[in-house]
Amino acid sequence: MYIINSNLRFRGLTFGNNPRMIILHHAESSRCSIEDVHSWHLNKGWSGCGYHYFVRKNGSIYKGRPDNAIGAHCLSYNSVSIGICTEGRFNVETMGASQYNSLKELISYIKNKYNISKIYGHRELNSTDCPGKNFPLSKIKNESLGGSNSGKRKKISSAGYPGYLLKYNANRFDSNVKTIQRKLKQIGYSVGRCGADGYFGDGTLLAVRCFQRDCNLMIDGIIGKNTWKRIMRE
Ligand SMILES: [Zn+2]
Repeated sequence: MYIINSNLRFRGLTFGNNPRMIILHHAESSRCSIEDVHSWHLNKGWSGCGYHYFVRKNGSIYKGRPDNAIGAHCLSYNSVSIGICTEGRFNVETMGASQYNSLKELISYIKNKYNISKIYGHRELNSTDCPGKNFPLSKIKNESLGGSNSGKRKKISSAGYPGYLLKYNANRFDSNVKTIQRKLKQIGYSVGRCGADGYFGDGTLLAVRCFQRDCNLMIDGIIGKNTWKRIMRE
């Protein structure tokens, strides 16, 4: 696979992206280059091309913003995802083989690089029709994830939320804290050297704050219903 360096000049990117999912988009334009996308996004007052990659109809793959830069492509998920945009308007067009194959190859590369097991279409996360009704979303998910996690995003229930706020309190054991610590560790956040011990100490506080920052939640270090649901969904 060859990724073309687009040499785009960005204005003031923010770094610290922590990719845990791939989000797919279309450009909603039948014919456009990454330079077009870059200038559209600059004109919106953004840092430049909001996506990390761009795949053209002929199968060429272009680099957008660096992987470790926070994206501008999917509200609430920009700091925990890699955004890939495809040239085309897939509400009216269908994707050809060259583009499909390159997209699949790119997904496989990113998936392995970051150990990602989740792929979403933009419309599954935000209220939009992107990447278009003809976009081969289920097909590419099935082929890229081998059938696992390929369905629609699971409906998240708040079941399991203990009904009270979990807060910093290093002196009290709480099995709900232990549940959250285990989950945080599983998704890549260190909860300190004691590990998942059921005590909400400094390590856990830092992990919760980092998680909240990465997910654009309010950074208060407290696990209420929203933070609980987001952690358990990951
Ligand atoms: Zn989109």
